[in-house]
Formats: sequence, structure tokens, C-alpha cells
Amino acid sequence: MSAKAPREDYSDDAIEVGPPKSFAAGIGGVYHSMEPAIKQMGVARTARLMAKINHQDGFDCMSCAWPDPEHRKLAEFCENGGKAVTWEATPLTVERSFWLANPLSSLQDKSEYWLGQQGRLVEPVHKAPGADHYTPVTWEEAFAIVAARLGELDDPNEAAFYTSGRASNEAAFVFQLFARAWGTNNLPDCSNMCHESTGTAMTYSIGIGKSTVSYRDFGQADLIIVMGQNPGTNHPRMLTALQEAKENGAEIVAVNPLPEAGLIGYKDPQRVRGYLGRPTKIADQFIKIRSGGDMALLQAVSARVLAAEAAAPGTVLDHPFLERYCDGFPAFADHLAALDEHEVALATGVPAAEIDELADRYLRAERVIVCWAMGITQHRKGVDTIKEIINLLLLRGNIGRPGAGASPIRGHSNVQGDRTMGVWEQMPDSFLDALSAEFGFDPPRDHGVDAVRGIRALDEGRIKVWVGLGGNLLGAISDTALAESAMEKTRLSVQLSTKLNRSHVVTGEEALILPVLGRTEVDLQESGPQYVTVEDSVCAVHASHGQIPPVSDQVRSETAVVAGLAHATLGDRYGIDWPAMIRDYDVIRDHISRVVPGCADYNTKTRTRDGFVLPNGPRDERRFETETGRARLTANELEHVHCPPGRLLLQTVRSHDQFNTTIYSLNDRYRGIKKGRHVVFVHPDDITELGLVDGQQVDVFSEWPGQPDRVLRGLRVVAFPTARGCAATYFPEANVLVPLDSTALESNTPVSKAIVVRLSPSPGDSPA
Ligand code: SF4
Repeated sequence: MSAKAPREDYSDDAIEVGPPKSFAAGIGGVYHSMEPAIKQMGVARTARLMAKINHQDGFDCMSCAWPDPEHRKLAEFCENGGKAVTWEATPLTVERSFWLANPLSSLQDKSEYWLGQQGRLVEPVHKAPGADHYTPVTWEEAFAIVAARLGELDDPNEAAFYTSGRASNEAAFVFQLFARAWGTNNLPDCSNMCHESTGTAMTYSIGIGKSTVSYRDFGQADLIIVMGQNPGTNHPRMLTALQEAKENGAEIVAVNPLPEAGLIGYKDPQRVRGYLGRPTKIADQFIKIRSGGDMALLQAVSARVLAAEAAAPGTVLDHPFLERYCDGFPAFADHLAALDEHEVALATGVPAAEIDELADRYLRAERVIVCWAMGITQHRKGVDTIKEIINLLLLRGNIGRPGAGASPIRGHSNVQGDRTMGVWEQMPDSFLDALSAEFGFDPPRDHGVDAVRGIRALDEGRIKVWVGLGGNLLGAISDTALAESAMEKTRLSVQLSTKLNRSHVVTGEEALILPVLGRTEVDLQESGPQYVTVEDSVCAVHASHGQIPPVSDQVRSETAVVAGLAHATLGDRYGIDWPAMIRDYDVIRDHISRVVPGCADYNTKTRTRDGFVLPNGPRDERRFETETGRARLTANELEHVHCPPGRLLLQTVRSHDQFNTTIYSLNDRYRGIKKGRHVVFVHPDDITELGLVDGQQVDVFSEWPGQPDRVLRGLRVVAFPTARGCAATYFPEANVLVPLDSTALESNTPVSKAIVVRLSPSPGDSPA
């Protein structure tokens, strides 16, 4: 099986490769966010919007889910937040002439980058069965098509309702209500592909799948361990929090295969010395770990903690905490007593002295936070690795007190809120019971499909209607060829979107694009302007108010479109008053108050200046809602990926000019790449050992037991100081290398890290 990302619209011929940066942000960050903003939106619109990002009376940044500080500065955004706003609020629009000029067969050859550059979607369009063009339709016609196709299904489970992490809490709540009133729990979401491993592990170990720290805790920590995360690109304002933590005396340890700029240094663009002075050093210790070695590292650190306790009994572990709140310590300790240090060395590639140093830092610190992202979750053993993070924290009572805790960092602005609102294929019975009591129907109880199972069901013809509330599933999920052919088998695919992406051009037999408002835009309904709400990475919920007029009077809010689809499909079934929800979102928030745990008085609490923080058992009162009512230390079988000679362990990464599948430009400034994306980063010694040359073109073959190799062709080898034996290339292009069924154990998240690959010179390419 082979594939090459379509790229007829740009070439890498002029690619420039320079040295990687050793710090993030600074004046470059300001320039690179403001220059495109002013160019595309003009000075006045730029100034108006940038002054309102992440402010209490403004709108929530639609990019990542990093939380906001209590005391906000004039500019409360980063380079990537600025780019996300420009991308959404561009006045450029997709006009009718575009649809006439561009048949789907030609749009399918365009890259994500080109599609995203075409501007905002401004009217509903429909692709009839057999047609090669989208043509405009009215909203009423669009709603009627969806209602008709759903009505033709034999079983409600033949439909699926996918959610992206940008959808507001109001839209998400109405969407899951629509799906369940329709009769299915088929509610896959983008979280299935990123932090599902986090939810699975944390829920098992401590009874909640969310961060146990608040924003303030970062400033109170003694030690912050950042694992498998690249905050300089994916959560840039986190660097300000890390800088402040350091100023308060915290140490920071980064654990990552690549020495990313933002993990090394930071120049705060909000301070004078961010322009004139030297960068703040971020990581006091940088552990350049072999991809997939995190679980072994964590076990090795915990083993050292246990050894320190054995050497000085009663002085190292938090015995009162362990006795009062935790189960599983004896089995955990027994398991680690047999830890094989040789296997740790093989798995991590990290010298024992560096592990000793990390263990010493952990033992010195009174308050420890561990943060992580997809460098941890997207491994085959991602769930067990996160359980090891929790083990390490529990040993010294680092959960449920100031300055300490477990902090998964979410990538999309409301991905956590959507889950809180019920977008999950496995919502517990307690939530479904509350939904039933509120709306007078019995929601389905069988679990629905997640993203991977959803694609499989499409491929096998078991799902025939796919409705996507935002996002770009086909761009994001593994096994691109299979996912696309699966989508093409469906009868109807529907996308609610602001801009074009791959999921609009590879469609079902029949397709609809329904254009929606962005976060920056005023959402005016019958009762007046509406606000929506979101939840950040640390469980804080707040309002978001649109600021500028909508890009077109044809565009509707996500909430209005979802409720409109539901009304057209279900009418007044169960007496649910969908039009009332469109008229006034307070009606939705009143429902949320009565259905969603922790959201009582939702209208009142979201109208306060800073919103409110959701209850969190482990954080607030060391309450652990596991099956046993106690936190659980777990014994996890160590496993590491064996990499045969001549092979490398590949991980996918995002460029600095990218947000998820959205490509803002072809540059990756921090890694030294300009004007191209088809590169593979490899350690210089590995390049030599493999008989390759820096700058050479190679084909990357991924190897899977019992399956044919997969290939991504034509990547330029770039020498990069990554961990030995490892390589990295860009998502989403590299999704073709991962089979659909290669997923993390327990969480079913596609495995996009530690992929065994071989690099083979591209035919006809002579080494540079
Ligand atoms: S850190 Fe994240 S949420 Fe904050 S402005 Fe940057 S991209 Fe937006």
C-alpha cells in the first residue's frame, strides 16, 4: 500500500534548511503572527480582534486549550493564537464561481494547505449522488436532505455524529442530544485520536480523566516534568507559565526525543528583555529519550524512589497518603523490584546517571506536576505509560495539594468541554439517566463507535450517514487511503465548517457543506447576541463573545445548525423544543445545568467575569471515584518497541506553522525548515550509519508484522539532533504509514509514535 500526499499546488523544490532554533517566541513570534494578520485583515480589524483574544469580554482562542491567567495582560495570545484568528477571520471567501470552476475530482488533488487558503465558506452547498460539483442549496433544502437520508436508515446506528474540539459547549450539548434522541451513541470525536489514552488511564487510576491542577498550581510547583509535549508550537503561552514557575524557584525537566526550541529557551514577547536580553532557559534537564521509552523511564524513576525509601524507611514516601487514599502499593512495589535496568537502558536510550538525576530532582521536590501530550498518548502502551505517571505522583502524595498534580495538556480549545457535555460514545449511565429525566426519552445504552471503529463501520457499510460538527477527520486519522475509501462508500457525508479541508473533497455518494460562524463573529439570534462557553485544559469554564460581523448573512452558528438539523429530522419527537434553543442559548444552558455534573446554575456562573472551575475530586478533596473509591497504583508490564538493525523509530510532529491538520504556511521556523514539508528529521550519526546523506531524497517504508509495508515517498533527509535511532516527519502526511488497526491498547488511539521504518533512497535520486 502506498500513498503520497497530493501537492500539485506547491513543490518542495525551493525548500531551505537551516539550523534549528534554541529558543521560542521573542520578536520573531510577534512578527510572524502580526505580519499575516495585517496583510490579510488590515490594521483596524487586526487591532480589534487581537485586543479581545482570551479576554473576559472577548472571545476564546480557537486554537489550543491552554488556560488563561487570572490577571490578564493587554495581549493575551501567542503567535499561534494570532495565526488561528487570522485564518478564521480572513475576509477572503469561497464564492459560487469557485464551485463552478473546481470539480471535486480536481479538488482531491489539492493539499490541505491550498484548500485552507481559499477562504471562508459562505453558503450551504450540496453534491448530488454521481455529481462532480457542489452546487448551492438553501438551508431548508440542506436540512431536508439530512432528514430524508436519516429517515431512510433501517437502524439509528447506521448514522454517526463526529465532533471536533472547537465546537462550543452549547453546540456539543445539542449535538449529543440530537444523536441520542435520534437513537445512537455513535459520537466519535477528535479526542479519540489524541488524549483518549489519558482519559482511559486516569479514570482507572484516580477516577477522573482530566487535569488535577489549576493554572495557579504551575506557579507553586517545585518541579514540572514536561513529557512528550512541544509547548513552543502546540501550547505556546504555557512557556509564560513555565517561565514564571522558574522565577518562583521551580526546576523543569523536559523528556522528548527531539530537542524542541520551546523546551530549551523562551523569550517572552511581553517583556522588554524578551526582545533585548538572553532567552530564559526552560529545561534544567533535557532527557532526549528514545521514542516509546517513557514507560521504562517512569518505572526506573519510581524504582529509585522505592530504593530511597528502603535506604531511609519512613522518610521518602507519603505513607499517610498512600495508606488513606491508595490501593495497589504492594503489587506495584513487587513489580518494580524486578525491573531490569538493562531493558530500561534499551528502551530509553538514556544513561542511568541521567535517570538518577531526574529521580534526585523528584525526591528533592515537595510539589511536582507532570504534564504530557501526544508524545505520550499516541503510543501502543500510552495508557500504561500514563498510569506510570500517576504511580510516580501518588508515591509522594503529589495529587490533591497546591503546586502538584497530573496535567494532560489538550490540543484543541474545547476538546475537553465537548466531552463534559456528553460527546463520547461511552457516556456513563448516570449521564444518560439525567438526559432521560430532562428530556423524557430513554437514550440508547449500547456504546457507539469511536473514530477508528467509525471508519471501519463506514468501510463495511454499517454506517451510511456521517455528520461532522467541524474538524477534518479524514485529514487527522491514520490509514488515509482506507479512511478515504470508507468515506466514499457512505450514502451522505455532512460537514459543518468554516473553511475547506480534505473532509469536504473526499465525500460520501451525496454530500453537504454547511458553513458556520467562527468564534470571532457575533452570533445574533432572535433574543439578541449570544455567547457560548468552553472548558480549558484545567477544567475552567468561561464565556466566549463574538466581536465582528459574520463573514456572510448566509452563515449560521454551529448551535443553530445542529438544532435546525435535529428539528428537521425529529420534529417535536419527545417534545424537545429545538427552535427555543436556537432563539436563546440560555435555554440550552438551563438544560446543561440539570444534566451535566458540576454545571448547576450554568447561566449564572458563566456570566461571571472569569466563569467557574468544574469540580474535580482528586484536586479538590482527594476524592477518587474509581471502582474501589481509592486511587490505584498499578503494575504495568514493561514493553518497548524492538527496532531491527537498519530501521528507525518514527514519530509524527506538527510544524510550527500548523494547527492540527490546518497548515498556515510551509515553514517550520523552529526546526529550521522553510518552503516545504516533505522532510524526515534524522540524527546525523544515523544518517551515516544508514548509508544516506543529509539532503538526500528517500522513501519511508513502515513495517507491520503480517502486513504489507506502507510507504510515503519523496522526503528529504534533514540532519537533526533527535535521539539516536529515532526519526520524525510531519502529520498529517505521515498518516498513510499507520494501519487503521494499529492503535493504543485499551484506548484505541491511532499509534503515531515509535513506528518502525526503513529509509530507502528514492529511485532516480542521487545523493546531494
Ligand atoms: S496558547 Fe493556545 S489558547 Fe493561548 S493564544 Fe496560544 S494558541 Fe491560543
